[in-house]
Amino acid sequence: MRSMKVLIIDDDVDSLAIAKLRLKKDGYIIYSAQDGVEGIEKTRAEDPDLILLDVQMPGKSGFEVCEELKSDSELCNIPVIFLSAADDISEKVKGLDLGAVDYVTKPFDIFELRARVRAALRTKRLQDLLLKYGEVDSLTEIYNRRVLMERLHQEWDRSLRSNIIFSFIMIDIDKFKNVNDTYGHPVGDVLEKVADILRRSIRSGDIVGRYGGEEFGIIMVNSTVQEAFVAADRYRHQIEKIVFKAKKASFSVTASFGVADSSGKNSLDKLVSAADSAMYEAKESGRNKVCIFD
Ligand SMILES: [Mg+2]
Repeated sequence: MRSMKVLIIDDDVDSLAIAKLRLKKDGYIIYSAQDGVEGIEKTRAEDPDLILLDVQMPGKSGFEVCEELKSDSELCNIPVIFLSAADDISEKVKGLDLGAVDYVTKPFDIFELRARVRAALRTKRLQDLLLKYGEVDSLTEIYNRRVLMERLHQEWDRSLRSNIIFSFIMIDIDKFKNVNDTYGHPVGDVLEKVADILRRSIRSGDIVGRYGGEEFGIIMVNSTVQEAFVAADRYRHQIEKIVFKAKKASFSVTASFGVADSSGKNSLDKLVSAADSAMYEAKESGRNKVCIFD
């Protein structure tokens, strides 16, 4: 089993040193950062399995760091345990509401800290296994990328054998950063609702999966690019109609679509990159539209 990676973000050098030393003995790989900005940088660079996050820090507070992590579709699955000097119920509740898995009061009892770290990592390990071997994306409950790619290979092989054309649609939500930056709305909710609309809209036999952060892919069996275009434009319109209720104001999102079919492509990679470049063309030419690769 690989060693688990723990990132400690704490401006208090003494408490940082103690936690580092003890947790290192438990066999974890430890990274540390002394403020929020550095902490987020290290999160991106090292992809830790767990973050211990001090609440009171100069500059970005621990709460702000947590909000930033939870609003990033690549980082939002990393569990966070808050560390705080205040034994204050409302602060604990706030931390947990922001998506933290646990809370430890400083100065911490090292046995308690180690036990809470062990428990959080146990859950993280199970979550990783589900993501690796499971078929379903844990957030959006549609197929994950691995399954989507497997099904693409199957469709590709079938199309070679029987000379039947199929299409692939790539979808990317426009200006996704605005969801959190402008509306302060959890990105997970937007991904869930868009996935839900797509799942309910596709024809039976077609396959939708989460391709990446805010990207989705749809395999349209037995369809030419013209047929897929018509369907994609319908999905585009359905996404645009969803209303999200944020704290301050309601908002909606749009998505850009790229469509390509298997005819004339000599590999599956060519098909996927054709759909991808059509999607970029849709972005470049103003977003909220469907482009065809031809
Ligand atoms: Mg502090």
